[in-house]
Order: sequence, then structure tokens, then C-alpha cells
Amino acid sequence: MSRTVRDQILSRLAGIRDPERGRDVVASGRILGLTVDEAGIARIMVETTPDRASATEPLRREIEQAAAGVAGVTRAAAVLTAERAPERGPARGPGQAPRGGAGHSHNHGHGHSHAPAAGQRPSVPVVPGVTAIIAVASGKGGVGKSTLAVNLALALQARGLKTGILDADVYGPSIPRMLGLQGRPDSPDGKRITPKIGWGLKAMSIGLMVEEDTPLIWRGPMVQGALDQFLRETDWAPLDVLVLDMPPGTGDVQLSIAQRVPLAGAVIVSTPQDIALLDARKGLAMFRKVEVPILGLVENMSWFTCPHCGGRSDIFGHGGARDEALKLGLPFLGAVPLDLDVRIMSDEGRPVVAVAPESEAAAPYHAIAAGVIESLGRMRREPPRIIIED
Ligand code: ADP
Repeated sequence: MSRTVRDQILSRLAGIRDPERGRDVVASGRILGLTVDEAGIARIMVETTPDRASATEPLRREIEQAAAGVAGVTRAAAVLTAERAPERGPARGPGQAPRGGAGHSHNHGHGHSHAPAAGQRPSVPVVPGVTAIIAVASGKGGVGKSTLAVNLALALQARGLKTGILDADVYGPSIPRMLGLQGRPDSPDGKRITPKIGWGLKAMSIGLMVEEDTPLIWRGPMVQGALDQFLRETDWAPLDVLVLDMPPGTGDVQLSIAQRVPLAGAVIVSTPQDIALLDARKGLAMFRKVEVPILGLVENMSWFTCPHCGGRSDIFGHGGARDEALKLGLPFLGAVPLDLDVRIMSDEGRPVVAVAPESEAAAPYHAIAAGVIESLGRMRREPPRIIIED
């Protein structure tokens, strides 16, 4: 992927006026996704509404031609994407997407104009051959979201499910390191991507495509474009579950992913302190806005097990997530202690559930996987709830 070509396309597009919205097409939020692959093929997602699709067609062509004229672009394909009108009244306040949130929202000043209105789920195609995509999300970074995503995926695999993991945490892709993966994924036909296999999991991450130290500056639409590509152009099938490691936080980028990826449900991970600070609650609100069922809450770094004496200390006041889950009527999927082995092993590419599946440290992940499967089964049986927000 070439960032410079993409930047040039974006600045070219910024010169095209959006006749409906009275600003340029970038500022008006028309461009929902933009990726340029190695062969110089630019793919652009242009937003429209179902009733305006034919009226937007000339603009789509103009965008496509402008992109095709940029040096380094061999072919440009712009597609119109329309969001489905909400089936019931939008479950939200006056058209607001959740803002910023705790943690980082990397929208660099453009985020709000790109955020699709909350309460709507676009008619996203399911990923062929993948039965369920589940997101692992957190209110902020550093709470152990990726560690949970990896070990949960491995625990699901241990229960006989064909499992994959997609690193959507494009700002800090840590899945390759945690699974011990290196090198670019293959693409035998130059179009489809063959996922890497780490400890039996099919895995894909932007971290496999760029050098680890390359600074990545992403704007919302680019994240979506790259993710769309990873979701739909990777040979995932057949999979029972694809675990999506979300970017940390509850800003517009995360909201947009929650809206556009056909998620079967979301697992929210938090530390005891952050539950107290309500970070995870923002995550809950975000998924509820887009009607993605919450499979449950996980409390990470819940207590500390001393590696020397095996004694247990509740350094952060363990139990907050369980209480919070109860209050919110959500399943509590389990608590994971702060465990030195978990940290050392995941940072070495030897996740505990793969390397020591029978260990005490792996046990919470197996219990969480069982809870996730149970929650997924319940979701299938229960009709979606109508959510009324205040
Ligand atoms: P996030 O994805 O939320 O940013 P990570 O999964 O990358 O968080 O975890 C941050 C750091 O904390 C990593 O070094 C990881 O090994 C460590 N970590 C995560 N969970 C645990 C745990 N239960 N015990 C010990 N260390 C943990």
C-alpha cells in the first residue's frame, strides 16, 4: 500500500466540489474508504443514499477519473455505497455519533464529517464462508484487548471452532507480534490475500504489510478502506468465528467499523479502574447505537497473582466489571488476573492458551470462550431488542 499515492489522490479529490453538500468531496464526508494496493489499483468508496444513487453517479465518475489521473495509479475504481435507511426510528439523540471518548480518537479533525449517523446499519455483505464475526473492544488502549483477542481466538479454536483473527487495531497492530508472525502474506493471484497462520489461527494485520516502525497516519475513511479490503479480499473461508481486534476507544473510527462490519456481537474488555471511569460504558453505548449485541464484559488485570508465592492481591479493586455487567443486564464473561507469564509469553509470540492450554493462566480464557459461545447461541434465539435511549 502506498501512502503517498493515496495522499495525492486525497488532495486531488479535495478539489472536487460536492454539488449536494456544497463542500469538497473529502470535507463533505463522501469518501468513506480509499485504498491503493501494490499494483497501483485505487479503490474508493463514495457515500450516497439509496434514493440519490443515480444522481450521485456523475460525481462517482468524476472522482474515479480524478483518482485515475494521479501518477502511480494504474486503475481507479470508485463504488457508490448506500446506507440502508433505519428500519425503525433511529435509536439515538439528535443525530450524534459518540465523540472522542476516552483513549485516542485519531480523526485528525476530519472525523465528525465522516461519521455516518448513528442508529443506521448499512447493508453490508456478509463475508462469504465466515459464520460469525465478533469484535473485541475496549474504551481505551493498554487494557489488554489484543491479548484477550488472541487468547480468546485460541480458546475458541481449542473448542473445535475454525477460527481467525483480524487485527483492526491499525494504529498499534500487535497481533503479528503476539502470534509470532513475520513477513508479508502471500497473494498468489495478486488479488486475494492468503492469511498467515499463527498457532492454527488464520491471521491478518496491517502490521504484516508495513515495517514495524513505519509511522501510520490514518484518517477514518482509510481505516475503513483497509479493513474492507482485509475482510473481503482475504481467503478466510471456511471459518466458524473471526475475531476482530478493534482499535481502542469509542470514537468515530470505531463506530464506523461497528456499523460497517457485519458483527454477530462484541466483547468489551476493561480493567477494574476503567470500569470505574466508565470507559467501557462508552463502548457499550457505541455498540448499542448500531444494534450490535454485546456478548459480555471481561475484566482484565483483575487481580495480581504473585509469581513467587502464588498469593493474590486485588490491586485495582477487582469486581467492578462484574457489578457493572449485572447493573446493565449483560453477561459477565470472566475475570483475567494480571499474570506475568501472560505478559511475557504474549510479547514473545507464544500466547498462553496455545503454549500452555492446561495451565491456570489459560483457564480464564477457556471460560470466556465458553461464555462467548453461549452468548452467541442466545443471540441467535432471541429477537433483537428494541433499544430506547435517553
Ligand atoms: P491493548 O490491546 O488493550 O492495547 P494489549 O493486549 O496490547 O492491550 O496489552 C498491553 C500489555 O499488557 C501487553 O504487554 C500485554 O502483554 C499485557 N497484558 C495484557 N493482559 C495481561 C494480563 N492479564 N496479565 C499480564 N499482562 C497483560
